[in-house]
Amino acid sequence: MYPAAFEYFAPGTVDEVLELLARHGEDAKILAGGQSLIPMMKLRIASPRFLIDVNRIASLTGLRQEGDRLVMGALCRHAEVGRSGLVRLRLPLMADAASQTADVQVRNRGTVGGSLAHADPAGDWPAALLALDTTVTIAGRDGLRTVPLSEFIVDAYTTQLGPIEMVTEISVQLPKAPSGGAYVKFEKRAGDFAVASVGVQVELAEGGQCRSIAISLGALGAMPTRARAAEALLLGRAASPELLTEAGQLVQAEAQPFADTRGSVEYKRHLAGIIFRRAFAAAVDRALGREVETLHV
Ligand SMILES: Cc1cc2nc3c(=O)[nH]c(=O)nc-3n(C[C@H](O)[C@H](O)[C@H](O)COP(=O)(O)OP(=O)(O)OC[C@H]3O[C@@H](n4cnc5c(N)ncnc54)[C@H](O)[C@@H]3O)c2cc1C
Repeated sequence: MYPAAFEYFAPGTVDEVLELLARHGEDAKILAGGQSLIPMMKLRIASPRFLIDVNRIASLTGLRQEGDRLVMGALCRHAEVGRSGLVRLRLPLMADAASQTADVQVRNRGTVGGSLAHADPAGDWPAALLALDTTVTIAGRDGLRTVPLSEFIVDAYTTQLGPIEMVTEISVQLPKAPSGGAYVKFEKRAGDFAVASVGVQVELAEGGQCRSIAISLGALGAMPTRARAAEALLLGRAASPELLTEAGQLVQAEAQPFADTRGSVEYKRHLAGIIFRRAFAAAVDRALGREVETLHV
């Protein structure tokens, strides 16, 4: 399948992108890794008349530590995140997500910024990063603005990006020790989107109680959400098998999956409870300094 004809631009700065967006409006689309947009264009689900390739903008690349935050340019590739020593050491939940996203080819091209802007309900970055303190920086005609990820995605495939705006950076708080995180994804076959996924980030007190806990759910609703009731149950308490069973039931109740070719509502809810417990166990092990390999389910 071939996409409809389009005019191609390869600007060198964010300002030029904004100018092109202002000139061509709804007929223009930004091209990052192209791993979602190009398939949609081939299927003619999207037929932009103007394609703005941002891959030559050096300021959008790379990842770095800035104080107590990890800052990724919008063009940071999935594979680059997975390879980062800082991510593996301080944010293993992100290493899990990077290594479980799609396949090697897609991971080498697809970008974190593109994943968040695309806001696929089953996307791995939206779900994984929601368990962390994540902000998204957006460039527009009035300059830059930064919003929490929890406010950036507003519905399935919908963000609060305006027509003359683009994502430039994603910033994640580096958790304080002793803390650990894990992202567990269940997929029907290797390289596929999630049937269900759960991220858990936990900080432990001296007695093993959860000083802070975040539980994010992916592919379990129109957009990723936090399992707030389960978080409230676990906060301030040390996990016991009974408590985790109860928390798993709350996760299942908070999940709002749709039935589709990947499974029924009941099946996905059931999965949510199981993978929550796996993610929680791996997150706690990591917080306690135990070795847990980057997760592949
Ligand atoms: C075979 C296959 C398997 C896949 N499996 C998975 C999977 O398991 N999990 C998963 O999460 N994803 C999966 N994907 C999607 C992949 O991860 C994409 O890379 C990702 O969803 C989009 O990133 P991208 O850089 O490719 O964006 P693009 O395809 O270039 O763009 C996607 C959308 O975001 C917009 N956009 C891109 N960058 C910006 C920006 N900086 N500012 C504003 N708007 C922007 C574009 O205009 C477009 O609307 C898969 C894709 C393929 C082809």
